[in-house]
Order: sequence, then structure tokens, then C-alpha cells
Amino acid sequence: MDSQMKRITVVVDPSVTAADCRRCGACCIYEVCEPCTDDESCLSLKGKVGLHTTCTIYRHRPPLCRDYTPGSRGCLESRRALKVGGGVT
Ligand code: SF4
Ligand code: SF4
Repeated sequence: MDSQMKRITVVVDPSVTAADCRRCGACCIYEVCEPCTDDESCLSLKGKVGLHTTCTIYRHRPPLCRDYTPGSRGCLESRRALKVGGGVT
């Protein structure tokens, strides 16, 4: 892919926003990024999924993580799988 091209992720549920990410982390468990995993969960994820979470490398997170826009299909799938919060329809 051209490094100048931006990925476009379609938001299908706008009610799930970046504010939800701070107490979610479902995509970090459901689809962990290879560069920072120990096969179980992402080593850069701190906190408790569904309560309070932080990505310690947020500004430098890999492209895979950036695809998980809040409210996107992948986000909703992760939340449904981990039984986290709203947008779980
Ligand atoms: S699953 Fe969605 S709401 Fe949860 S951390 Fe990932 S992008 Fe944010
Ligand atoms: S690098 Fe950050 S956004 Fe990506 S899976 Fe790990 S904690 Fe989540």
C-alpha cells in the first residue's frame, strides 16, 4: 500500500466513541497485534478490559490497531465477543 494512503474504516455504530475505548480494550484482546503480544494478550494493554484500559504505546500503535475505529464492524465484533458495554447488538 502507498505509504501516503490512509486506511478508511467505516463506522457502523456512531454511539460507540473514543470515550468507550478508555473502559473497553476488547479489540486488544480479541484481535491482538502481533508486534507486542505474548500469545495471550497485548503487552501494551494496561488495566482491566470492560472497566478501565490504556494503551501504553497509543501514539505508536501498529496499523492493525488503528483499523479498530470505535463503532466500526471490528470494534463491535470485539465488544460482542468480550461482552463489553454498548454496541453489543
Ligand atoms: S473494541 Fe472498540 S471501543 Fe473497545 S477499545 Fe477497541 S475500538 Fe475502542
Ligand atoms: S498496541 Fe495498544 S491498541 Fe494495539 S492491541 Fe496493544 S494495547 Fe491495544
